Amino acid sequence: MRGSSAFSLLPDRFAVSVTPTPTPILHAVCDIFVSLQGEGTWTGRPTAFVRFWGCPLHCPWCDEPRHRDPGSRRLLTTGAIIAALRAFGEGSARVLLTGGEPLAREGLGSLVSELNCAGFDVAMETSGVGGAVPPGVAWVTLSPKWPPPPEAVHRRADEIKFVVPADPSEAVLGEIARWSREHPNVWVQPQARGDEPDPASTRRAVALVMESRGRLRLSLQTHKWIGLP
Ligand code: SF4
Repeated sequence: MRGSSAFSLLPDRFAVSVTPTPTPILHAVCDIFVSLQGEGTWTGRPTAFVRFWGCPLHCPWCDEPRHRDPGSRRLLTTGAIIAALRAFGEGSARVLLTGGEPLAREGLGSLVSELNCAGFDVAMETSGVGGAVPPGVAWVTLSPKWPPPPEAVHRRADEIKFVVPADPSEAVLGEIARWSREHPNVWVQPQARGDEPDPASTRRAVALVMESRGRLRLSLQTHKWIGLP
């Protein structure tokens, strides 16, 4: 007999609309830890670091080579990140989203928004590659690589930190000179050799600061002096 199924006899007005449950965004993370900020304006300030996994750039001096190692990639929901941060107590009131590159991932805006809602003060360190800084980020450290990111990213930055090798190209020196004139908070930081300072890079960075008539400041990785991550 046709139409014997109970479902087929239901008029349309009883049709049930099922809204699919949204799939939670998973963030690729290397590590979450609390330490002291060792570089730039916020040196000495307790900070929770959320190190993302993955970066489109391959800087030879990268502090976080694990962002390229598939074995260090953990996929965490926003809730799991917030729970990990809360476990650190007061030390995690300020959260720094850092490289792997924060801007090169989906769901960053909603993560920042949820961190804000959970009471965290959100900062970001970025190379400027990948997209716009979402609303809700209270502090942006731009560490530009080459080629330089868009001008708008420089202007959004609260501080600009150039990592300086022993023999920077004329193009890089030109960028440093330009932004030292156009931005009020510009730092140069010697390129390190792993966890060790590089004397030649350090001499070059110091020389740039001395020649800058007070426009540049020297950033050192002070956390490494005392064995902090
Ligand atoms: S941009 Fe940052 S995270 Fe990416 S490779 Fe360079 S130093 Fe590492």
